[in-house]
Amino acid sequence: MATPVAGAIPRVEPRPVLRPQQPLQQAALDSARRVAPSGLGLDSAGIRKRMVDRLVAAGLRDELVKDAMSQVPRHVFVDTALVNQAYEDTSLPIGLGQTISKPSVVARMIELLMAGANARTKRSLGQALEIGTGCGYQAAVLARLSRQVMSIERLRPLHDKARENLAPLRQMNIRLVYGDGMRGHPPNAPYDSIISAAGGEALPDAWLAQLAVGGRLVAPVHDASGARQVLVVVDRTDEGFTRSVHEAVHFVPLKSGLD
Ligand code: SAH
Repeated sequence: MATPVAGAIPRVEPRPVLRPQQPLQQAALDSARRVAPSGLGLDSAGIRKRMVDRLVAAGLRDELVKDAMSQVPRHVFVDTALVNQAYEDTSLPIGLGQTISKPSVVARMIELLMAGANARTKRSLGQALEIGTGCGYQAAVLARLSRQVMSIERLRPLHDKARENLAPLRQMNIRLVYGDGMRGHPPNAPYDSIISAAGGEALPDAWLAQLAVGGRLVAPVHDASGARQVLVVVDRTDEGFTRSVHEAVHFVPLKSGLD
């Protein structure tokens, strides 16, 4: 063994250079090249098929919901810096503290709505009302399954952004409304299907009043303890309303009024 000579510089093994910024640089490159981490192009049908395959593995069964989810390009609805994550099962920020919902949650809620549609509107959501347009993604999925979708948003910049995002899709049966969705949208009521993308303390009376007989509503609502949100399904029959409670979820808050 060599004895270190006084004053000699100790030998240091070369260590790999840390590049904490590398994943970010890779993401930026992927975004610029419009590919996902899987290498699939964002405009390819393959990338959406892969997303739907994962939703199926997680329990999605409804063929029409599968078709609708495999047709809507989710990357069109997210920020340029995040497009390479558009087909991951994750919610992503869309500005103003709001998020685009996870594909699995969109699929689950629409599948619940469709299960109600079986008996009444012959596999269509009929006249649908969405509360919380956000970036417009879910409205685009709903539009493929409905006669008409009225979608309400209380934040003007998001309402405008959704209009911009949806324009190239030429989905003519979507009407975007800037307003307080807690009041529903009386001019086009009653609705065969009502879906909320924001969770409140209770279901607003206006939604129940605007639900058609034979119609179904799906929404996140705080449970009795107020500590968590659960998905609630309400069916309206000739006799009144029946309500069932499903799994815990996590949605942005339902707020009243306009900002
Ligand atoms: N549908 C979107 C999710 C949007 S997040 C998607 O496709 O991913 C929920 C949205 O609900 C937010 O944009 C929020 O501003 C909106 N929101 C909350 N309370 C509302 C209300 N009372 N009326 C209308 N929109 C509301």
